[in-house]
Amino acid sequence: MDKNLLKAVYSLEDFRERGHKLIDELANHLEDKIQEKSDNAIAWSNPESELDFWENFLVKGNASLLFPEILNRTTHVHHPKYIGHQVSPTAPITALSGMLSALLNNGMAIYEMGMSPSAIERVVIDRLCKKIGYGKDSGGFLTSGGTLANLTALLSARKAKVPHDVWNEGHKDKLGIMVSEEAHYCIDRAAKIMGLGEKGIIRIPVTQNFQMDTSLLQSYLDRAKRKGITVFAIIGSAPSTATGIYDDLEAIGKFAHTNHLWFHIDGAHGAAAIFSEKYVLTVKGIQHADSVVLDGHKMMMMPTITTALLFKNDRHATATFSQKADYLLTPTDHEDWYNSGKRTFECTKTMMSIHWYVLLKTYGEDIFNEFVTRLYDMGHQFGEILQNNSHFELAVTPESNIVCFRYIDSNLNTMALNELNKNIRQNLLEDGEFYIVQTKLRGVQYLRTTIMNPFTTKEHLQQLLEKIKEYSKQNNEHSD
Ligand SMILES: *Cc1c(COP(=O)(O)O)cnc(C)c1O
Repeated sequence: MDKNLLKAVYSLEDFRERGHKLIDELANHLEDKIQEKSDNAIAWSNPESELDFWENFLVKGNASLLFPEILNRTTHVHHPKYIGHQVSPTAPITALSGMLSALLNNGMAIYEMGMSPSAIERVVIDRLCKKIGYGKDSGGFLTSGGTLANLTALLSARKAKVPHDVWNEGHKDKLGIMVSEEAHYCIDRAAKIMGLGEKGIIRIPVTQNFQMDTSLLQSYLDRAKRKGITVFAIIGSAPSTATGIYDDLEAIGKFAHTNHLWFHIDGAHGAAAIFSEKYVLTVKGIQHADSVVLDGHKMMMMPTITTALLFKNDRHATATFSQKADYLLTPTDHEDWYNSGKRTFECTKTMMSIHWYVLLKTYGEDIFNEFVTRLYDMGHQFGEILQNNSHFELAVTPESNIVCFRYIDSNLNTMALNELNKNIRQNLLEDGEFYIVQTKLRGVQYLRTTIMNPFTTKEHLQQLLEKIKEYSKQNNEHSD
């Protein structure tokens, strides 16, 4: 055993030197991407060759190139031609808060293992609740991701609404939730984890425009009741991930109220619109929700992974994982808001509140207004560009920064067009200049873009369309 290894691990000179070097490398990287000094949003390599590379690197690679290699071999979310999945181009300052959290490594489950980040979290949560329009009873916490937050919210809902104590005694009744068929797959997963089974997920069809068809709610609820299912919650998407279309939160809220259901909003992507003066109406009715999920790493410029789960009544946040029923909790149970692990699914979590706080403190709340508004504006503009281009067809008029469209050609049938659009996306991926994704809606293959980057302009989007047209031409020539 080499005792000097531990010394080397904690060598401060080494840390200082590597740290300064890394900051320089990261700043150069950002300069490169944001200012497009390098052309590509992604340097695609297939999974097998990537695996080979890293197996080989562990044995023979030059250690000083480790971080630079990782920089090169990842997808560049800061590049204006990154128009793919919904993660933020992180505000550089939050990379620093991330480093602080990583180094201090306070586990957050109990107050004394994270005193300042626990108090900071309370400040952030109170701000968010106020912004939603919640009253003084509101509260919540930060947790590791929208997926976990949605599951947690549904557990809170079950605890609050189901008369039988499922937490302690297990299942007795058939339980169910109502949700749009376009909801994020994690809702499905949460329901399955909770033992609701396939029958307990009451999927409400969507309108032509991919919004939950609220005219069907009563009949679907009645039918579930006839089957002996106790429905305890309804979930609205704000917006749904695939299309970026917001459900009618006001209508869902009213329905929930009338029928004594828990009203949950999955706003992982777009609840951040509460900050946008221009787009706040997309979340009209949000203040009536019993719980709301909001991801910091999507529309709020933070690194993965940090999510706010907010409750109209903080009592429910405390009750979720408690052995006691909601109504048996004493005031003292509620008082120790600062012991985060009592309310969160996870035990240890990162000191994620610092990301939210450093942005608020350094730039003020208006930074979120600017960010969301700019990206949603670009989504709308891209929609207009596509509408005016006869080679393309929108899946639906965009309501956010998520835009789904496809290349069309009147000589091709649906199947051929599906094939063509799939090929276009694969070509784009391997080419690497642009990074976009894809989705299938009602059996039709679409190209899917999310404009996440405030540096993406109309010109970039035009260039993307030109490139797609070129591919389509080549593709047609090959098949002729
Ligand atoms: C991204 C997303 C999720 C999942 O959130 P994670 O933070 O990725 O776990 C859930 N719902 C919606 C609507 C989303 O957009």
